[in-house]
Amino acid sequence: AYHFTCEHLTKQFDTGDVKTVALQDINLRFEHGDFISIIGPSGSGKSTLLSLIGTLDRPTEGTLLFNDEPISTLSAKQLADFRFENIGFIFQQFHLIPTLTALENVMSPLFGRKVDYDVHERALELLKEVGLADKVDSLPSQLSGGQQQRVAVARALIHRPKWLLADEPTGNLDTHTGDVIFDLLIRLNRENGCGVLFVTHDPELADRANRKIEMRDGQVVAMSDVHHA
Ligand code: ADP
Ligand code: ADP
Repeated sequence: AYHFTCEHLTKQFDTGDVKTVALQDINLRFEHGDFISIIGPSGSGKSTLLSLIGTLDRPTEGTLLFNDEPISTLSAKQLADFRFENIGFIFQQFHLIPTLTALENVMSPLFGRKVDYDVHERALELLKEVGLADKVDSLPSQLSGGQQQRVAVARALIHRPKWLLADEPTGNLDTHTGDVIFDLLIRLNRENGCGVLFVTHDPELADRANRKIEMRDGQVVAMSDVHHA
């Protein structure tokens, strides 16, 4: 369940007279529970692929399916609900709201949403899980980069997504801090069964995934099963 399929996904950007084929005929299947890395040089289409899978952008051609149902055709409102039910995002820039505390940032995706669990309680639990129980009331500016990214990971999980999509989640962190974040993602994948799809420039991190997808010029040039957990 909860698997993604990309069928002939193509994305072209038209900027004035310049046409860029960012993705060309991508055919992939992502099984729920997988821990997948996407690696490739800058401009190879990694971020574009992640935004198509996260339904933040639509393909020019081809179809994205979730549990064998096409989702590229859903309305904007339906897509927002789809993302809310299924996907958590983490970015290179942590994108925390500077005026909110760590706890409030973690709760923020649920502002204005009705859910059948205690949001405050769950946010506290998640902050504990990422090792920030003592930083609940801190503002982002009072936290280190690694701590801010851990808040962002907790926030990405608040609505119990089936998948975590991460675009260069360690790109702004030093190697050690990046490793801490990465270990956290591995643990979440193992313990919660949350699928993880992450984009990286770092070959060592890419090799720690269960499955590695290598891109170049908008195409998948290699795919390997790296580990079997
Ligand atoms: P990567 O994440 O591997 O660095 P991207 O997916 O960001 O690659 O970009 C792939 C190609 O598409 C690049 O040539 C990039 O300049 C282009 N591109 C990405 N987003 C846009 C956009 N919004 N408008 C125009 N071109 C874009
Ligand atoms: P990343 O660091 O994840 O590869 P970039 O810094 O290349 O991403 O791009 C950041 C944002 O700018 C993305 O939303 C991407 O779609 C957009 N973008 C990338 N290349 C271009 C471009 N040539 N023209 C317009 N927008 C672009």
